[in-house]
Amino acid sequence: MSELVSEEYCHCPFCAEAISIVVDFSAGSQTYIEDCQVCCQPMGVVVDVDTDGYQSVRVERAS
Ligand SMILES: [Zn+2]
Repeated sequence: MSELVSEEYCHCPFCAEAISIVVDFSAGSQTYIEDCQVCCQPMGVVVDVDTDGYQSVRVERAS
């Protein structure tokens, strides 16, 4: 069983800094905007949870 709330590491699509985001996988697949902790640009956080319980997170430019 995977953790429902997980700290995920990725790279900002704007400044390429390594950042961590806390993702609540219990909410299922979702997309939301979160500001980069380094450059404050709006990142789109795309959370995917498939029917097998596989969890993935990616970030993309939101603007
Ligand atoms: Zn950034």
